[in-house]
Formats: sequence, structure tokens, C-alpha cells
Amino acid sequence: MAVHESVVDAIGGTPLFRLARLGAGIAAPVYAKAEFLNIGGSVKDRAALSMIEAAERDGLLRPGGTIVEATSGNTGIGLAIVGRGRGYRVIAGVSDRSAREKSDILRAYGAEVVTAPTALPVEHPDHLFNVVRRLTEEIPGAWLANQYDNPANPEAHLRTTGPEIWEQTGGRVTHFVAGVGTGGTISGTGAFLKQVSGGAVTVVGADPEASVYGGGDGSPYFVESIGHFVHPGTAEDRWPESYRREVVDRFERIPDRESLLTARRLAREEGLLAGPSSGTAVAAALRLARGLGPEDLVVVLLPDSGRSYLSKVFSDDWLRRWGFLEEPQDDGPTVRAA
Ligand code: PMP
Repeated sequence: MAVHESVVDAIGGTPLFRLARLGAGIAAPVYAKAEFLNIGGSVKDRAALSMIEAAERDGLLRPGGTIVEATSGNTGIGLAIVGRGRGYRVIAGVSDRSAREKSDILRAYGAEVVTAPTALPVEHPDHLFNVVRRLTEEIPGAWLANQYDNPANPEAHLRTTGPEIWEQTGGRVTHFVAGVGTGGTISGTGAFLKQVSGGAVTVVGADPEASVYGGGDGSPYFVESIGHFVHPGTAEDRWPESYRREVVDRFERIPDRESLLTARRLAREEGLLAGPSSGTAVAAALRLARGLGPEDLVVVLLPDSGRSYLSKVFSDDWLRRWGFLEEPQDDGPTVRAA
């Protein structure tokens, strides 16, 4: 059993779990990388540590400094754990679309939370990205982590997530599946796996059906933290620099309903309580694996825990309200005439 001198040592090194029940009847084995077992509860701990270390190295973050970031919550948690531990002030700008539990966790770790809308054109001064940028300019010694364009984000996965998967599968991995938010996870992990396998690993993006990454129209969707949408009336057509399009061979486009119901099955059937973006990723991995053989090996990444979404994905009322759950059948005793 591990003994750590610092919580930072409990970032990375996450286990793989075979999805035996969800993958029943599918020839290709599917393994899930459980990123919710990182100390801060998500894959973003890796990027947060990597970005802070790079900023310290580059002199952008100095003692007494302030870390600022626009974050769906998970990056903020990673930044809070690592940043507060090193004596920095941490300010997280959270989208008003984000689950409430995420902000509560940020505050618990000692981060300050600023909430701002993201359903505005990105040029709008009140848009989350502009609020966060202003704070960084106004606070002396403030540094904007900028996970969307920070090369230390994909690098974290090039250095850690990719090598872990290669080692854990003994080099047998043939397909890697992950959602795309900033693109850091899929780009870094995918680039490493392609490099080490001489191009033999196929990288598949798991995308909400409406997201523009996979070719959707950018209309709203429910799954948080992944995908990309273009707001009407804006010219926001720039991809994040953390996202390397050439690493992704293709996308599986998953409707909200399939993502959410798959997340619920993961908890009930596999004992893995993961968030909605994990549902999207596993749904994509299962679709993919159905077309593969026993010599293939699929690894799918589960970014965070379902505990942050108990009032949404794991609430029957919430699902029913949005039409994702059919009313329970009347399955009382059926009497059949002989
Ligand atoms: N799922 C969840 C729950 C996340 O918080 C994130 C990061 N925003 C992602 C998926 C996507 O990861 P990445 O930013 O590395 O593409």
C-alpha cells in the first residue's frame, strides 16, 4: 500500500477496470481507466499539476501569486489542491450551466468561486472567459492557467496517462476512446499511444451528438464538460490549442440519452459511479468494440465521479423531466388465459 509525503503524489497511476457486464457478448475486451480515483476526483488533476509546474518554471507564477481559471469545476479542484498546497490564492470562474455540487467542492478546498454565464456570445463582456480575463489583469501577480491553450495540459497526458495505459495493457491496447473538452486528454494520450505503437493505436473521440467537434450543429446538449458549441451570431470557430485534430482518427457521436443511461448502467452494473462525460465515452467505446475482434483491446477514459451529478444524471425525476427516462412500465402480474 502506498504512503505519500504529499497529496500531489496521488495524482495519476489510476487503475483499469474490465467492463465485463457492459461488454458482455462483445469479442473485444473493453477496459475503463478510472480517473475519478485521482486525489481531486478527476482527470484534470493531471493537467492542473502540469500547468502549475510549467508556470513556476517559466516564472509566470511566483510566491504569493494568484491562480485564475475558467473551469467546469474539475480543473479548478485540481488547481485548488495543488495551488493552495503551495500557498497560492485560487480563483475559479464557473459556468452557470455547471452542476452546483462542483462549486461547493471548490469552496471546500479553499478556492474562491466566481459564477458567470457561458450562454452569451464570447465577445460579451459578461461571458465567463472575459470575466476571468479581467480578474487576471486586475489582480497583481495573477496568472491565467488557460487550459484551452496551455501546452502543459496535453503534455500531462503525453507524460503520464499515455505511458500508464501502454504499460497497464502490456502494449496490447489497439483503440483509445475519450471525450474532448479542451482536447488535452485525447491529444496527449492519443499522441503518446500512436508514437509508442508506431501508429497502430486508433484514437476515437466520444462526442455529444450536437457538438461541432464530431460534426454536429452546435445546438445545446446536456452532457457537461465535453464537446464544443458555436453560439449563434459569433465567429467563434477557433479550436483550442490543447486539441490536436490530427491525433483523432474519428468520432462516435452520442445522443444525450445514450450518454446518460450508459452512465447509470456503469454505476449499477459495473460499480463504477462516473459522470455523464464518462457515459458518452463508454457508449462510444461499446459502439466501437462491437465492430472489433478478440485480438483488439479498447481503453476508454472515465474523467470524473458521478457524485457531482447525483441531482441530475442519477435522479430519476431529473431524467424524467427532460424526457430521458420512460415512465416505469406497469409490470404487475399478467394473467393469461390458457
Ligand atoms: N469530462 C469531464 C468531466 C471534464 O471535467 C473534462 C475537462 N473539462 C473532460 C471530460 C474533457 O477533458 P479534456 O479537457 O482533457 O478534453
